[in-house]
Parts: sequence; structure tokens; C-alpha cells
Amino acid sequence: MEKTIRIKDKTFAVSIPEADILREVDRVAAELNRDLAGKAPLFLSVLNGSFMFMADLMKRIDIPCEVSFVKLASYQGAKSTGRVKELIGLNENLEGRTVVIVEDIVDSGLTMQRLVEQLAAHRPDKIHIVTLLLKPDRLMVNLDIEYVAMRIPNDFIVGYGLDYDGLGRNYKDIYTVVSD
Ligand code: 5GP
Ligand code: MG
Repeated sequence: MEKTIRIKDKTFAVSIPEADILREVDRVAAELNRDLAGKAPLFLSVLNGSFMFMADLMKRIDIPCEVSFVKLASYQGAKSTGRVKELIGLNENLEGRTVVIVEDIVDSGLTMQRLVEQLAAHRPDKIHIVTLLLKPDRLMVNLDIEYVAMRIPNDFIVGYGLDYDGLGRNYKDIYTVVSD
């Protein structure tokens, strides 16, 4: 029987079981271990969505590295009506370093583009991007996303760190919305 969950007004069904997720996490970790050996990278997890992916990914990284966490805070500009996403919680000096952004999902890519711009201002040697999920049909900006665990269609998903209105982050599988 198909496993479904109900969150608020929506029903979701399992679309990517944990075992499938972890197989792709294994693959991405192996690529990172190979490509970044000797670089002493700083892995920067973007909270909240990437917490579960980050934990599973870091358990599989066996090269010397540092691990840290940042957040993107949306706020309403004082005079403008545009919403700006500001980087908060960065405590490390990035100058000359190899930085690896770890994200849950890249949709339009605007969030990631903004994050890369803000991190670049700290003058790292190199910024790499790792994402658990990519919606290739939605990508609007030119980003070099070198490490993608899974490509998915343009449907709304929850679980494995991702939320619907704050709920659903705790599930170990990924679910896709099936009805409203
Ligand atoms: P972007 O700026 O790339 O359009 O959006 C990225 C952000 O949108 C993600 O960090 C995430 O918060 C949210 N997002 C995009 N697609 C989904 C989805 O299918 N499910 C969930 N839970 N969040 C999504
Ligand atoms: Mg995110």
C-alpha cells in the first residue's frame, strides 16, 4: 500500500524512499571525497532545510574538513517592498578557503544565486555547490551546480528536511503532494 501523510490541507505520498536517497548521498559523498581531497573544505549547510541531508552527507565525508551552518533570513526592506534574503550566522573567515554550500533544493535558483554573491564577498578561493534536489525545468539563473543528488519534476515535495508551512521536516522519506 502506498504510504501517505496529511499535512494541513494537503496529502502527500512517498516519492523517494530513504534507501534511494541514501544511495545518491553515497554517490555525491564519494565525488566530494575524490574532488576535494587536500583542500580542507568548509562545508556550509543552509538551515533549516538541509539539516538531514547535511548529517547523512557528513557521515560519509572522510577527508579533513570543517562543518558549519548558516541561515538565510527573509526580511522586508525598510523602504523597498522587495524581499531580501540576508545571510546570517556566518562565523568563519572564508578568505582563501574552499567553501562547499550544502542546500536542500534548488528551484528557480534565485536563493542560491543570492547566497553565492554574499559568500563571494568574503573572498573564498572557490565556492562549490551541493544540492540534495534540483528541479531542472524551473532553473532561471546561470549557476554551476556541480553536485546534485537527485533531479526531480516540478512538484511540491516535503520530508527529509523539507517542510510545508513548518511541518514535515522530520520524515525520513521524500513525499510529493498528491492532492489539495
Ligand atoms: P529558489 O530560490 O531556488 O526558487 O527556491 C529555493 C527554496 O524554495 C528552497 O530553499 C525551499 O525553501 C523552497 N522550495 C522550492 N521547491 C520546494 C519544494 O518542492 N518543497 C519545499 N518544501 N520547498 C521548496
Ligand atoms: Mg534551502
